[in-house]
Amino acid sequence: MSPGGQAERETTPLGREIAARIARHGPMNLAEYMARVLTDPQHGYYMQGDPFGAAGDFVTAPEVSQMFGELLGLWCAETWRQAGAPDPVLLVELGPGRGTLMADALRAVRRLPDFGRAIRLHLVEVSPALRAQQAKALEGLIDPARVTWCDHLADVPDGPLLLLANEFFDALPLRQFERTPAGWCERLVVEASGGSLAFGLSPPDPRLAVLVPAALREAPASSVAEVSSAGLGLASDIARRVSESGGAALIVDYGYDLPDGKPTLQAVRRHEPHDVLEAPGSADLTAHVDFAALAEAAAAAGAGTAGPLPQGRFLEGLGIVQRAEALARGATPDQARDIAAALRRLTDPAEMGEAFKALAISHPELGPPAGFA
Ligand code: SAH
Repeated sequence: MSPGGQAERETTPLGREIAARIARHGPMNLAEYMARVLTDPQHGYYMQGDPFGAAGDFVTAPEVSQMFGELLGLWCAETWRQAGAPDPVLLVELGPGRGTLMADALRAVRRLPDFGRAIRLHLVEVSPALRAQQAKALEGLIDPARVTWCDHLADVPDGPLLLLANEFFDALPLRQFERTPAGWCERLVVEASGGSLAFGLSPPDPRLAVLVPAALREAPASSVAEVSSAGLGLASDIARRVSESGGAALIVDYGYDLPDGKPTLQAVRRHEPHDVLEAPGSADLTAHVDFAALAEAAAAAGAGTAGPLPQGRFLEGLGIVQRAEALARGATPDQARDIAAALRRLTDPAEMGEAFKALAISHPELGPPAGFA
């Protein structure tokens, strides 16, 4: 037991490394902690293999149904046409997971050979194990000579761009600031007794207020602001790219229009909530995406933005109901039931339809991309 009477948290080799680092260099902010837990080359959560699916920790939209990737593929083709059909065009996916979304997208655009020929595919992925799965998922769908894996978007060359990111921004490191009666403080990870980890608070620091989103600057005491400089930097980089070279990006994630002062960082293991500081590296860490902040960063970098729209409305605008009907026509009764259930899961406001949102970042003269008109 720790002095506070709380049971000590379970640790891992990564947890011990983090505790040792804190002992040497002092408390760690949550962004450093998240980066370490998710992408540490040896022990990071995403480096250990395949967290997806019913047997894994969570299920994402492309794993729910092929319809999701198909519609996003058609969104890319439509946006490409709208942008004047540039050839070549960089097709970029951030965090492709198992490669399911991209495989379904490429399958859906097979009947558009001009678009297919123009594509230079760049997959931004940290995990070697997931890169291998992505390569396998794409077999037969694209010439391997036209596929490149990168660690960062910065490694992708400039050029007309179509970019997809589903459940990527929620995994980017963020810092948490807490309003106290004495001012804004930062929530930190500290070492508790026995080398386990605990939350601490920095002294109040007026400079932190500058980082807090304007909507929360005067929020009541104990409000928490979450700020992902990695996410904002990426939105800004995407915006600069599409503004200079043309094209558009589609960001889909769970998140909010405006922050409400409640912390959203959470850990999930085997579909169940998990303590953020317990057994680091064994559970996924995610936070809700601040779409207003992403849109603002993109606009400041010169791009047009559309949305965020609830995922359900966005997919309906792209024709998911018609796609489900078409699939059901050739299906067995069991399959038809599965298709109807997947449609509900992706679009019903009580399921993924409202909590997930879609935001487009595009060349300022492109006009609203498909699904946003
Ligand atoms: N888009 C997929 C997977 C979402 S999970 C889907 O919808 O199913 C997040 C993905 O991003 C994983 O592939 C993970 O390995 C990758 N990832 C997480 N953090 C990353 C980072 N900082 N840089 C590159 N890839 C990252």
